[in-house]
Amino acid sequence: MSIKKIEAFPLHYPEPHDSNKSRYVTVAKVTASDGVVGWGECISQWPEAALATKVIVEEGFAPLLLGEDPLDTERLWQAMRNRSWWYGNGGIASFAISAVDMALWDVKGRILDTPVYELLGGKRMTRMRACASVIFDTENLEATHAEFADYAARGYTAVKGGWGKSPETAFGLDPRRDLALVSTIRDAVGPDVDVIVDVGTHVAWTPSHAIKMARAFEEYDLYWIEEPLPQDDIEGYVRLRQAISTPIATGEKEWTLRAFKTLIEAGAVDIVMPDPGKAEGVTGFKKIVDFAAAHCLRFTPHSWSSAINTAAAAHLFVSCDNGVVFEFKPNPSPMQDELVDTPYRPDGAWADLPSGPGLGVNVNEDIIRKYLMA
Ligand SMILES: [Mg+2]
Repeated sequence: MSIKKIEAFPLHYPEPHDSNKSRYVTVAKVTASDGVVGWGECISQWPEAALATKVIVEEGFAPLLLGEDPLDTERLWQAMRNRSWWYGNGGIASFAISAVDMALWDVKGRILDTPVYELLGGKRMTRMRACASVIFDTENLEATHAEFADYAARGYTAVKGGWGKSPETAFGLDPRRDLALVSTIRDAVGPDVDVIVDVGTHVAWTPSHAIKMARAFEEYDLYWIEEPLPQDDIEGYVRLRQAISTPIATGEKEWTLRAFKTLIEAGAVDIVMPDPGKAEGVTGFKKIVDFAAAHCLRFTPHSWSSAINTAAAAHLFVSCDNGVVFEFKPNPSPMQDELVDTPYRPDGAWADLPSGPGLGVNVNEDIIRKYLMA
């Protein structure tokens, strides 16, 4: 058995959870010599990144991997890292590694007729606890109340809101509005649902402000605060973590084990958030969450792009015992509901384990063509 073909498809789609704004992923397809096909994805997010990832996959990695044994996931992951030594260790190279590595795990599982979670050591749970994760409306509190009440009514026991609909109305800009928003969500879901807020990328809080806000949020009992500080403010994260009792989650902007190692060893984080479509695939993700586990830390997958990424994250989640909760887009989205024939969906509070060989999802190639970047 050998790798016969590697292709990459940059996709452009409207995301209903973000006011139908354009989003981009790059999907990799690996075909083995006996015709077995595996799919992987990276969350390239912007058009230039989606196209650049295709170039690295097809011009850099495909010539390197053709003819190789697709079962050798660790060796091939390392070969891609070695190939991209000069331009990689993060950035577009890590997107390309993520997509190809994920596809190789899918191929491997299909060849061995085994779910990926079995290849990762076996399942550690019988179902995944689901979190409804959305970009919330910071301006219309009535609508936000109704939205989160609906998630609670649908059975979710964890909800996450973040960012805001525009940089101008982002969560984190206005302390009074931020408090009103958190109060609104708590009121909407009641006392028994875990509430998470995500400051995200539009706002750069200082450690002092983050401490003040986290203390003000305490009466609403947040499950965690996500990305309260700029990515590089490691010392700020350490100071914040020592000052508050609410857990801090971060890491969706990071690519490599080295970056997570820095965060973890500094004592900057409670819950790490690698994305398998960014943190160098199933192989890279597993190294990060194992490193977190060795430091008695938990993780939650950042997985908010396509159903391929969701499937990969789910296999990783169920094969580890330090995962906290699994985020889903709670409403229909093309990359979740159209791209594959059986997307993972929670049934209320819980989602079943992935089933079937490989990643357990079958990609519809008509949908690849439908959303292919022109
Ligand atoms: Mg986030």
